[in-house]
Amino acid sequence: MATFLFDKIIFGPIKSRRLGISLGVNLLPVDQKLCSFDCVYCECGWNPKQRKEKPVMPTAELVKEKLEMQLQKMVADNELPDVITFAGNGEPTLHPQFESVIKDTIALRDRYCPKAKVAVLSNSTRIEHDDVVEALKLVDDNIMKLDGGTEEIIRAIDQPVGKFDLSKTIKLLQRFNGEMILQTLFMRGVYNGTSVDNTTTEEVNAWIECVKQINPRQVMIYSLDRDTPADNLIKVQKEELETIASYARERVPDHILITVS
Ligand code: SF4
Repeated sequence: MATFLFDKIIFGPIKSRRLGISLGVNLLPVDQKLCSFDCVYCECGWNPKQRKEKPVMPTAELVKEKLEMQLQKMVADNELPDVITFAGNGEPTLHPQFESVIKDTIALRDRYCPKAKVAVLSNSTRIEHDDVVEALKLVDDNIMKLDGGTEEIIRAIDQPVGKFDLSKTIKLLQRFNGEMILQTLFMRGVYNGTSVDNTTTEEVNAWIECVKQINPRQVMIYSLDRDTPADNLIKVQKEELETIASYARERVPDHILITVS
């Protein structure tokens, strides 16, 4: 299906279902996806099977320059963002200067739009690195992916490129001491001739047990929104997401806010 890549470092602002008026920052190459997962639903398509060119990521200096130019324009137009969001063509924490980029961004936010939040959408695969964790602790919303409660379903949906260990991921997510948002995409369908469904009672119960262990301040649940690289995937409708959210709210501590978008 028609997936797409962001062709710029700074994109938007766009109206985001989950985040409001969001100015996007893409730290990944503009000509190819680069991710430690290869989710069957990824709007950027698949990772290249073979990379003809070495992926080129923008330097921290270039990101700072482009972001400052865009924020200056938005100030002049009196159209400030609600949030500056790190997303784009893959996993933002793969950028080798991620921590510097986050520090620069917070300084620019403080100067040009102090009411805006800084958010990072991450797939949680890089949090064994102290510098990544320290950077993620600096932002307002570190939104970490966990698409299921069993390794089997996460492998089926997210297709980790390298090693993946669910119990280790949970332990690493506990390093945020609850100061994080968990994001979970619910979907069902058939991929490579096998049923993939993280909405069954069994899978939802396993996921709830992980949520309890991670103890985030918020959980965002949502479903497919754009074209996906795999065919035969089915969007979970809002009513069903609300049912999953209600079921989870009864089973997790009250301080964990569960939202549907
Ligand atoms: S983690 Fe995000 S960028 Fe990476 S494959 Fe999944 S949806 Fe795409």
